[in-house]
Amino acid sequence: MPVSSTLAIAISAVAEACAVTRAVQTELQHLKTLTKDDFSPVTVADFAAQAVVCLRLAKGLGHFALVGEESASDLRETSRSSMAAAVTDAVRAIWPGVSVAEVLDAIDYGNHDATARSYWTLDPVDGTKGFLRGGQYAVSLALIDDGAVVAGVLGCPNLGENFLRPFDQPDPEGTLFYATAGGGAFSLAATAAVTTARQIQIVTDRPQRALRMCESVESGHSRLDSAYQIRQDLGVTVAPARLDSQCKYAVVARGQADVYLRLPTRSDYVEKIWDHAAGALIATEAGARVTDIDGRALDFSHGTGLSANRGIVCADPAIHPRLLEAIAAL
Ligand code: AMP
Ligand code: MG
Repeated sequence: MPVSSTLAIAISAVAEACAVTRAVQTELQHLKTLTKDDFSPVTVADFAAQAVVCLRLAKGLGHFALVGEESASDLRETSRSSMAAAVTDAVRAIWPGVSVAEVLDAIDYGNHDATARSYWTLDPVDGTKGFLRGGQYAVSLALIDDGAVVAGVLGCPNLGENFLRPFDQPDPEGTLFYATAGGGAFSLAATAAVTTARQIQIVTDRPQRALRMCESVESGHSRLDSAYQIRQDLGVTVAPARLDSQCKYAVVARGQADVYLRLPTRSDYVEKIWDHAAGALIATEAGARVTDIDGRALDFSHGTGLSANRGIVCADPAIHPRLLEAIAAL
């Protein structure tokens, strides 16, 4: 599948970031002493992945605007110098010889605000809880032009064909997904050349009782009790798949699940653009319908938040209206 040079650069950037996060996660699994509130490994992975993506985009594209989840201002404090050194070490797997200052500057390239006509948005480690438990997480990069997502790349370092693999058995390759608006959605092994990509599509018209739904592992991110109620209302007999991160969009896009529901737990929570831009485009290009729980299209023209939307319904278009009805009836 030939891809444009810009998309090829974005795919390389995400593949490299996946290699870095995978290396940090492997180390993490050897850290026996990690306490529950010690978030430093995921912090190293987050910063290093953002640096790696920004360095690749800078080399390939020259000037660009990026709205990333991370900022290096904390890392610049002297008390955090050992963290900055650990981040730089992780980045050197891809960019040997890069300096601490160059890494910090690369991370801060993600500090643009979301007001440019055209900008990239990045979640360097989406699903930090999944990363920490050895489960699913994603490197998520998307290009937004005039308030619309035009390209998305989602690296899922732990997502193999068997998406329900136990947490203590990381996938050896992982999967990378990409899509362009109107150009379809594709997947390839996260370690492979882009020429091996294959087009992916949702599965349509599965009988209602056999629908496979996917949802967050974290009950604070989506109303799991309401999703259970919806399955009861629709007569669905299949247990839901619980996955962290935007891997849920990918699993629907390649036909292993029919529905991804994200039902707000709080009325004041605004979803972030980097948590949905790449995944929603990939699912849409694979044939899914993606809206919020009121049936509105996701609106990426309000800066960093999806402030005009509430929650997510991503599903086969044939069943999407029934899901909206079931949600409205809750
Ligand atoms: P997931 O892995 O799908 O459960 O979602 C992970 C994402 O949930 C993180 O990137 C957070 O930005 C986001 N998040 C944090 N708090 C909330 C919340 N109260 N409701 C929905 N999403 C949240
Ligand atoms: Mg996230």
